[in-house]
Amino acid sequence: MHSPGALLPRSFHLSSRQVRRHLIRWFEREGRSFPWRAEERSVKQPAGAVLHDPYAIIVAEVMLQQTQTSRVVEKLPLFLERFPNVAALAGASSGALIRAWQGMGYNSRALRLQEAARAVVGQYGGEFPRTVEELAALPGVGPYTAAAVACFAFGAQVPVIDVNVARVYSRLFYKCHSAGQTLPFESIRAVAEEMVPNGDAYRWHQAMMDLGATICTARAPRCERCPLASECLSANPSDLELFGQRHAAKPEPALRGEPRRIWRGRVVELLRRTHEPLQVREIIDRLFPAELFGDLPVQERTGVLEMIRGLIRDGLILPAVAGGGLVREGGVEENDRVMLPA
Ligand code: SF4
Repeated sequence: MHSPGALLPRSFHLSSRQVRRHLIRWFEREGRSFPWRAEERSVKQPAGAVLHDPYAIIVAEVMLQQTQTSRVVEKLPLFLERFPNVAALAGASSGALIRAWQGMGYNSRALRLQEAARAVVGQYGGEFPRTVEELAALPGVGPYTAAAVACFAFGAQVPVIDVNVARVYSRLFYKCHSAGQTLPFESIRAVAEEMVPNGDAYRWHQAMMDLGATICTARAPRCERCPLASECLSANPSDLELFGQRHAAKPEPALRGEPRRIWRGRVVELLRRTHEPLQVREIIDRLFPAELFGDLPVQERTGVLEMIRGLIRDGLILPAVAGGGLVREGGVEENDRVMLPA
């Protein structure tokens, strides 16, 4: 087993201090403002440190995982207005929550977020725990979100490593030759742990994330505008084509050329709009109108039915009979009706 120091590259010892200084100065000039960074949801501590609202942070982080930043900027304040604190979210009905999640995609995230909120209320009396370990033990909270809440809300001196941050560390301290190249996680973590400035973990990570999102982007790093170009081992790659290569992503399960998650979102959206249970057959017919898609082959129809059963298994929709009663968990057929939870 390596000690963390043994994993630090030589370049780290040569340039880490300047990297810290240059990046923080750049962030003071160019840092972006977002609702989740807003001062009004922050509390000044006696020692001068700023404590950010952990509830707003966790909601923002869960939204940002799979939704564009610009959409989250628009939706987060509305969501926080509808569910202003962890108790309000914990006590909401699933249906109200799924409706409020409209436009965000990946609706099951809303239910996972609520599970975490219920655990905060049930196990901690509505006060968020502060350590990464306790946060990661909440249902539906992964290691990244746990570290983000511990650091951004409570100022914990822990590395917060998302895909942008991993890319920037990799390029800075190692010579990278392609857009998708990042170092093994243990190497990045070793560097990241050493880089977090004492007492300034929150600002440091916001700066790293801004740099990764706006300058050191995945496909077209703008080294000529980068505040770290003089320290970076991958700056101004001579072989620019390599940096322009698209990182081969794992293909998503698809239906008629579109990712299945998009079709799942459309089923939920249809039920949001109709405000009443719909027969599965009708949903399939509305999603795939015969004028556009012809008769769906049996295999595809079965695939759509299975997708709808998956939404039921995930708790996003429910099987229903007239009057709203449940008929069974999953296993619906085309004649059955489904609805959003109440
Ligand atoms: S110099 Fe280029 S590769 Fe290096 S961190 Fe800046 S943008 Fe990224």
